[in-house]
Amino acid sequence: MTIEQLAQGLKKGKRRHLAKAITLVESSRVDDQKKSHKLFELLKEQKEAIRIGISGVPGVGKSTFIEALGNLLIERGHRVAVLAVDPSSPSTGGSILGDKTRMETLSTSEQAFIRPSPTAGTLGGVAKRTRESMLLCEAAGYDVILIETVGVGQSEFEVSSMVDCFLVMMLPGAGDSLQGIKRGILEITDILVVNKADGDQERLAYHARAEYEHTFHLLKPKYGDIPVRFLAMSALEKNGITEVWESIQGFISALKTKGLFEELRNTQNLNWFKRLTEDEILRMLWSSPNNKLKAKELKERITSKQLSPSLAAAQMIEKLYKKN
Ligand code: GDP
Repeated sequence: MTIEQLAQGLKKGKRRHLAKAITLVESSRVDDQKKSHKLFELLKEQKEAIRIGISGVPGVGKSTFIEALGNLLIERGHRVAVLAVDPSSPSTGGSILGDKTRMETLSTSEQAFIRPSPTAGTLGGVAKRTRESMLLCEAAGYDVILIETVGVGQSEFEVSSMVDCFLVMMLPGAGDSLQGIKRGILEITDILVVNKADGDQERLAYHARAEYEHTFHLLKPKYGDIPVRFLAMSALEKNGITEVWESIQGFISALKTKGLFEELRNTQNLNWFKRLTEDEILRMLWSSPNNKLKAKELKERITSKQLSPSLAAAQMIEKLYKKN
């Protein structure tokens, strides 16, 4: 299949083409990277979707919620793509998001596209590939993109830097204190949802919701006068899903009304440009055989105390400015 054919199929919304295109952008082979640049050239001026990040500890109910929300959105005429960012490395025993069968009904719908996490450890990291996959889903006509992540490592921060609205799911009973909330998470939260508000835990869930709201009042809001929203739901019983969707829409339209939406997307694009440029420069720096050799020599001289790190850095930089 040529890149032109791939782009054409993608624009027609063909899932097979989308899956193939994502595999291409995930590849770290130099020729594949060139092809993927060409593909993005052909896909310019695509429509942008609503981008939503969904985070929470394993077991909080993310896949149950995504299944319920996804099906609701499809009923309402949307096309939904689900991407996962799973930061787990092979050394920690594989995927946290898991191999369990997830989102069973959603995955069989023609209007949904579900893509598990790319494997970690290749060019540009998981975030780069997730971001590019998101753009491909948009080109294929998916108008709501859900990016799921677990509350581990930097993944939430990565995801929050590529979405319009960041939703954090919590368990009932965790609201009595802020223990268990990772530092920095509150600052990136737009909507907080306490899940499992059913059965014995229903009261606890509403109590937790109120506790979170109370605590957040003490913090400076992320966007001036657009408040963080607090909800409780039961993803399992499909109670409160509509309210969560309305809340997401309300949040995004508040951003638009205040002119912050364009600003957010622009900031994200500019940061992304900066980061890709820096990543590529670093890659070029450390992949040159001459530079590698020089760095090895300097490292040895640092460890044997012949050279201070700052002098070594100065020598490395000097070398870069001289012709290799
Ligand atoms: P994930 O690891 O965050 O994706 O969580 P899952 O969606 O796989 O859910 C973990 C467990 O919690 C499963 O056994 C679900 O059936 C259960 N669960 C999910 N949502 C709810 C809910 O709203 N209420 C109750 N009682 N259980 C739920």
